[in-house]
Amino acid sequence: MPEVIGVDVGGTKILALQLRADGSLGQETRKLTPRGGEAVLDAIAEAVDSLGPVKAVGVGAPGLVDHAGILQFAPNLPHVVGLPVRAGLEQRLPGVVVTVGNDATCAGWAERLLGAGQGSHDLLMVTLGTGIGGGLVGGGELLLGANGFSGEIGHMVVDIHGPPCPCGKRGCWERFASGSGLGRLGREAAEAGQAPRVAQLAGGDPVAVRGEHVTAAALEGDAGAMDVIHRFAWWVALGLANLANVFDPECIVLGGGLAESGGVFLEPVRTAFNDLVEAAEYRPPIRIVLAQLGERAGAVGAALLARHASGAPAATPRP
Ligand SMILES: [Zn+2]
Repeated sequence: MPEVIGVDVGGTKILALQLRADGSLGQETRKLTPRGGEAVLDAIAEAVDSLGPVKAVGVGAPGLVDHAGILQFAPNLPHVVGLPVRAGLEQRLPGVVVTVGNDATCAGWAERLLGAGQGSHDLLMVTLGTGIGGGLVGGGELLLGANGFSGEIGHMVVDIHGPPCPCGKRGCWERFASGSGLGRLGREAAEAGQAPRVAQLAGGDPVAVRGEHVTAAALEGDAGAMDVIHRFAWWVALGLANLANVFDPECIVLGGGLAESGGVFLEPVRTAFNDLVEAAEYRPPIRIVLAQLGERAGAVGAALLARHASGAPAATPRP
């Protein structure tokens, strides 16, 4: 029997995997994310059943997860509001203890214990994908906040006149520093005729430019694409510097789809960060590194949280 199963619920797919007691990964399975909350719970339960039997399951969900395991708000899962993930899954999976957390928080915990953040007691996990997620570790513990809603770093407002965000505000950091932000900067450059190679990779249509076209051209060494990467890196670094001023981390781990694409922006981010963080010359350097666990980080972290949670009651003496 695998010790625990971790599940990462994304906007497009659900990944479930087995985590063994020694930290190694067993079997895994993927499903498309269905529409509607109850259908999502059904799909998670089926994925777990196909890998089970198991005693504990951890779930990383994309949005605001409270301490009762209710997904209160999930901008990337349409029509999902106030979904009782823990209760709904424990009903579908009798005898299984379910732990639920935010997906980026789970990813941060996985990188802290098994990935790029090993040994760091104070670290920030920043997932750069379609949006931006965050996981905060302070003093070796996850910082979850009063309601479990901490780490919504993508919605720090960095430009009050900036583009509108699906959350309802304007100029959120993730409008500039996520994959969609990179795509927007790339389109602007292509439309201005400053990034012909990027436009060419998008089939000649500047309007069709996405982040991956910028990254691909930059990896070829294209100067126009590198200009876009440097502008993008400044926006990434701006948010990281704000966070570093607040949290004083030892290490910042960059994950998500953008980080997996080779990290062509890593050095420009480090340079811009040193310009933007308070008193760079008077503080120990803050390491900015790429995540190591890739697309499995969320599921692995969810499994680790489930293991921690299921272990805790057994360690408590019972009357
Ligand atoms: Zn927002």
